[in-house]
Amino acid sequence: MNSKLPQVSTTIFTVMSKLASQHDAINLSQGFPNFGASPKLIDLVTQAMQKGYNQYAPMPGLPSLREIIAHKTNSLYESNYNPETEVTVTSGATQAIFTIIAAFVHPGDEVIVFKPAYDSYEPSIELYGGTIVPVQLSAPYFNVDWQDVASKITSKTKMIIINTPHNPTGSVLSKDDMLQLEKLLKNTDIILLSDEVYEHIIFDEQQHQSAARFPGLVERSFITGSFGKTFHTTGWKMGYCLAPEALMVEFRKVHQYNVFCTSHPMQYALAEYLKTPDHYLSLPDFYQKKRDLFLSLLKDSRFTFSPAPGTYFQILGYSKITDEGDMAFAERLTKEHKIASIPISVFNLNQQDDKVLRFCFAKTEDTIKRAADILCGI
Ligand code: PMP
Ligand code: GLN
Repeated sequence: MNSKLPQVSTTIFTVMSKLASQHDAINLSQGFPNFGASPKLIDLVTQAMQKGYNQYAPMPGLPSLREIIAHKTNSLYESNYNPETEVTVTSGATQAIFTIIAAFVHPGDEVIVFKPAYDSYEPSIELYGGTIVPVQLSAPYFNVDWQDVASKITSKTKMIIINTPHNPTGSVLSKDDMLQLEKLLKNTDIILLSDEVYEHIIFDEQQHQSAARFPGLVERSFITGSFGKTFHTTGWKMGYCLAPEALMVEFRKVHQYNVFCTSHPMQYALAEYLKTPDHYLSLPDFYQKKRDLFLSLLKDSRFTFSPAPGTYFQILGYSKITDEGDMAFAERLTKEHKIASIPISVFNLNQQDDKVLRFCFAKTEDTIKRAADILCGI
């Protein structure tokens, strides 16, 4: 068969979650909370179904949800998006990302991607005939060298994808990073895809530097968000994207034939729930406590780390323990020690192996303690 994606196999998140379940291991691999969503939010979904929100939603999303997303973006980042024309509700950020790439990447276009990269970007680019131009970031801080990025820009560069806070490393872009990016893109037609699904999971008093804060970026950007990360509901697959009208027109041309619309009762519930910002404003503190607990328990272990500035992922170095490759070590940890993680080499350029694994700490205190107990014994 003439595969459109000959290099692609099953995503590492599926591979590791399956292995964890086969071996009855604590699953800190795929990123998802093991605690529930707010009962109030769940009640709102039931209410929405009872009220009859069971047929197709408007194609770009429920107006009340788009309005509250625009309002939230404005209050957090001082940026005005028109809910009618510049906000679209999607089936998770994954669908937004895929649809953005489908709508804009032509065969032969170049797309700059920072490595390690979340694994959905590249297959989407390849499907549409784009060429991936990788920029490798290095452990332990994964800072961006903007000179390096500048040297990769050509007349064929159609898009740059950034992700802050960053999966899988937990790093965040600073205000200075965003200003440098803004300067670099000035006077170009390059589209920025700013994947900000972890916007509310950022620690140590830092502020999330959304592309929405920078006028020179707003005019060329798609920003993606995910209610799964924010409301502990990854299984709902609810997200959204923001972009200036001219870009959003093209996005919606594809979106309407890609999914048409997304879940109506969920949109109703989210619109109501978002009327109070308490939940998302408390997330930094909520997740920082979990990160700090996990790391305080690991301080005497043989794993090395620098605390993740954002996301619910912590990178742990294991070179003091073994010189096995990260895939082999992650498999062995799952099978023999009953704890599953994600090897980072699968997201790197040429599978570069820095001997680090990613652990998800979006877990109850009890799970974090049991996981740390195992890791301390290795
Ligand atoms: N981008 C990144 C960086 C992610 O980690 C995820 C979570 N899988 C997504 C996008 C997709 O989000 P969603 O689950 O809303 O599709
Ligand atoms: N974003 C999640 C993670 O990084 C996984 C989502 C998925 O399985 N596609 O673990």
